Amino acid sequence: MHKNPTQGRVFRAGDAGFEEAVLGTSFTVRDPGRRPDIVVQANDVYEVIAAVRQAAQDGMRIGMCSGGHSWAQNHIRDGGLMLDLSRLKRIEINPSKATAIIGPGVLAGELNAAAVKHRLFFPTAHAYTVGMGGFLLQGGFGWNSRALGMGCQNVTGIDVVLADGSLVHANEREHADLFWSARGAGPGFFGVVVRFHLQLHRRPRFIGLKSQVFRIKHLEEVMRWADNIGPQVSPQVEFQIVMNPKALLINAHGLEVIAPVMADSWSQAREMVDFMTHSPVRHLASLHLPLVPMSLEFMMKTGEKTLFLSNTRWSADNMWMNDPIEPLLPAIRQIADTQPPHPSHVLWLNWNPPASRPDMAFSVENRTYLALYCGLGKHVDEAAHVNWATDHMKSLAPWSRGIQLADENLARRPAKFVSDANMLRLDQARAKYDPQGRFHPWMGRLPAPGASA
Ligand SMILES: Cc1cc2nc3c(=O)[nH]c(=O)nc-3n(C[C@H](O)[C@H](O)[C@H](O)COP(=O)(O)OP(=O)(O)OC[C@H]3O[C@@H](n4cnc5c(N)ncnc54)[C@H](O)[C@@H]3O)c2cc1C
Repeated sequence: MHKNPTQGRVFRAGDAGFEEAVLGTSFTVRDPGRRPDIVVQANDVYEVIAAVRQAAQDGMRIGMCSGGHSWAQNHIRDGGLMLDLSRLKRIEINPSKATAIIGPGVLAGELNAAAVKHRLFFPTAHAYTVGMGGFLLQGGFGWNSRALGMGCQNVTGIDVVLADGSLVHANEREHADLFWSARGAGPGFFGVVVRFHLQLHRRPRFIGLKSQVFRIKHLEEVMRWADNIGPQVSPQVEFQIVMNPKALLINAHGLEVIAPVMADSWSQAREMVDFMTHSPVRHLASLHLPLVPMSLEFMMKTGEKTLFLSNTRWSADNMWMNDPIEPLLPAIRQIADTQPPHPSHVLWLNWNPPASRPDMAFSVENRTYLALYCGLGKHVDEAAHVNWATDHMKSLAPWSRGIQLADENLARRPAKFVSDANMLRLDQARAKYDPQGRFHPWMGRLPAPGASA
């Protein structure tokens, strides 16, 4: 199902259509200036195998993309082969076992639409057009992930084309180190995942959203309250604050306090968002909306229509935080004061992860998450804003506990994205599965733990 209408082709630098084959893969419309030598738009697994073997024979490096939503355009590298996997879009659902097998080119919204038909659910990315390939490899905080675990925790196996062109299955028992790596290595994974085997969940009976909007002058009071109440908020509520130059309905610089909730019933959901209804800052809100039932598809598409606009030059950066918000408030006020125009925005997310997770490469997370997204339309001067996200993250570095690969900017600002021990294990697995360095590594990284500066 969901076949891409255009049959994939091979383009070499200089061919008609080459530029579109490279840049057309990318959600952000910035031209990174990098170009591969050849683009292979694979139509099936056999074409992936053939492309990897050809690259090995020609001594070429490989970059790959599924949905092309890497903010940093990680897949567009200089030289070598770019493998476009967006046409690998098969979705097979087994309703009685609540499992699915999907191709990496399946979009978040497509998987959700297929699961809805069986009253099943998967914690996909929040925006409809995000590719499941990159999302699952980097960890993936999806819808209801605080309750159901990271996207990658719900992967039970993968089919991978390795650097020598062989196709293997990996799970907890077979090629366990490859499987371990695929759950968190993200844009530095060293194989081509051609199928993901997923565990699905029963669909929540109630899905909805509660929101309040505050003018930016109330930033400090609202953030103090949110940071304080966060640990008490149910894991089924994705409590977050979006700092938006054109906040919902007030159309001015403000804070959208948003609480998507997934529950068994309306009344349970209402109880879960009660902390907003009776909050001590409620009287400061310019707008207070009741809990509204919504389809997940509507929320996914609305996010893309209002915030994550396409046809925009995006850059992002992020950090995990553990400290109370108070000492960071002056820096967050600075972020607000320098915020580029809409659709640029800031996300503060109440995370408070569970005490433990399965052993997997994904290993850096913390109490709260802060991400800056700079989105520039055609006529906005890029030079004035392009470092906005990374510069602010640099200034907040003393409070950073690492970053999440979802919103990374490793080429501009290398940062810690897995624990030191896991970085060593990733390097060992890479040396074993990709000894010749066929696959591009991360665009930037900190020196290996223990290495001399
Ligand atoms: C609008 C928007 C909304 C987002 N929302 C969320 C969200 O809710 N939660 C979240 O966690 N993240 C989110 N992200 C971040 C997103 O999940 C990551 O950028 C992810 O990498 C996107 O996957 P992709 O397949 O579309 O990207 P791609 O750019 O295609 O892939 C990114 C990198 O992953 C690797 N890769 C991709 N596919 C494969 C494969 N099949 N085999 C091996 N390696 C592969 C490659 O190194 C590639 O360069 C969002 C991003 C955007 C732009």
